[in-house]
Amino acid sequence: MTYIPSIGLEVHVQLKTRTKMFCGCSTAYGARPNSQVCPVCLGYPGAMPVMNVEAVRLTVLSGLMLGCEISGYSKFDRKSYFYPDMPKNYQITQYDRPLCLGGGLDFETGGQARRVRLTRIHLEEDVGKSTHHASCSGVDFNRAGVPLMEIVTEPDLASADEAMAFLLALRQTLLYAGVGDCNLEEGNLRCDVNISVRPEGTDKLGTKAEIKNMNTFKGVHAALLHEIERQTRLVAGGGRVVQQTLRWDPDAGATFPMRGKEDAHDYRYFPEPDLLPVALAREQVEAWRATLPERPADRRTRLVQTYGIPVYDAGVLTADRAVADFFEAAARLCNNGKAASNWIMTDVLRLLGESGHTLDQCRLTPGMLAELILLVERRTINQPTAKGLLPELFASGGSPGERVAARGLGQMGGTDEIGRLVDQAIEANPKTVQDFLAGRQAAAQSLVGQVMKLSRGKADPQLAGRLVAERLAERKSR
Ligand SMILES: [Zn+2]
Repeated sequence: MTYIPSIGLEVHVQLKTRTKMFCGCSTAYGARPNSQVCPVCLGYPGAMPVMNVEAVRLTVLSGLMLGCEISGYSKFDRKSYFYPDMPKNYQITQYDRPLCLGGGLDFETGGQARRVRLTRIHLEEDVGKSTHHASCSGVDFNRAGVPLMEIVTEPDLASADEAMAFLLALRQTLLYAGVGDCNLEEGNLRCDVNISVRPEGTDKLGTKAEIKNMNTFKGVHAALLHEIERQTRLVAGGGRVVQQTLRWDPDAGATFPMRGKEDAHDYRYFPEPDLLPVALAREQVEAWRATLPERPADRRTRLVQTYGIPVYDAGVLTADRAVADFFEAAARLCNNGKAASNWIMTDVLRLLGESGHTLDQCRLTPGMLAELILLVERRTINQPTAKGLLPELFASGGSPGERVAARGLGQMGGTDEIGRLVDQAIEANPKTVQDFLAGRQAAAQSLVGQVMKLSRGKADPQLAGRLVAERLAERKSR
């Protein structure tokens, strides 16, 4: 008997707002513990929440990017539970009337097109953070009250690999929309995983277990592989999966029960009495829709059509919105999409990787790259000289043309000038010439290398190659 896993995800994304969901405290990451708190986010009795409209806008933008229906009427509810890093003993969230309903995300995995349906997207507040030390525990409330968007999927995923591919595509879409940093290290993208297995041929889903608070994609993948195997072994052996909440221990490589799974009634949801419902006018939603950026998949298609670059290139360039923006600006300025794509995919991405910088932290601009490409295209400098210049431009900026002029890097283009160097190279290497005449074609390349050396790298390698071939052919025919 084969068992099919059904996996659903609840993805929590901290929204990129300046202030918290219901108070004016800063959301900046990395501040001294408990320095960004006030009576509202510390849950003092009588403190009144005030809704952050920017968080509502970012949630709606996410919903529009993901094809959701935007609710004209939604509201906030209290979800009651005790947790040491939840000072109010309830969380303000959305229960039966979330901001966004339905929708879905198309993505690719193993060369196959897949779609995962979304159930809903709602808005809530994050909780504080506990840290456990040898003899005590500390709690930091800076994170308490940061706007948190929860994206809930249907159980449409069938493997750990699919879940990974979906999470990467979702993260890319949210980054394009600019709604959050989605930085896993800073904990601003986390997810809970629901998983069940059922015998092949049946539609009825098995009993699910939930793995809580996964904060690395690698962890999600490993936990899913483990849990699919555990449940399959259990069910195949005649056992039953218990509905419960699990914790993934990466060191043990196993899941452990945390608590019995609560049902909705355990949380005693009721409408938040201190906040008004959210009524969104159609015109408001349409005005936000008009500001939506292009979706990553649409951009890939357009880059192939507009700049004539291969599908593979388009995939690499659109992985990061800033890289795709940089490419388009450079390609337009030099009117050579393929050259811009080659430079970015090889040299620029390598320099970014080595330096650990992002594009807006380095000094290279699309204009500089375009100028460099044009200098090569117009044969002012050769490709090796251009390759040598790029790291300097990346680190300290400036005009490529001015650097070339100031340092005399311009390519030797004249046939006479290079011809003289070719003659010198032939004169100085009689053995290599003999090798060529004896049939060793590679010897010609070695002479071109000598010419490049004599020109101190400034000869046009193509012209040097042609002249060497001509001179050798003359000798052969003698
Ligand atoms: Zn506050």
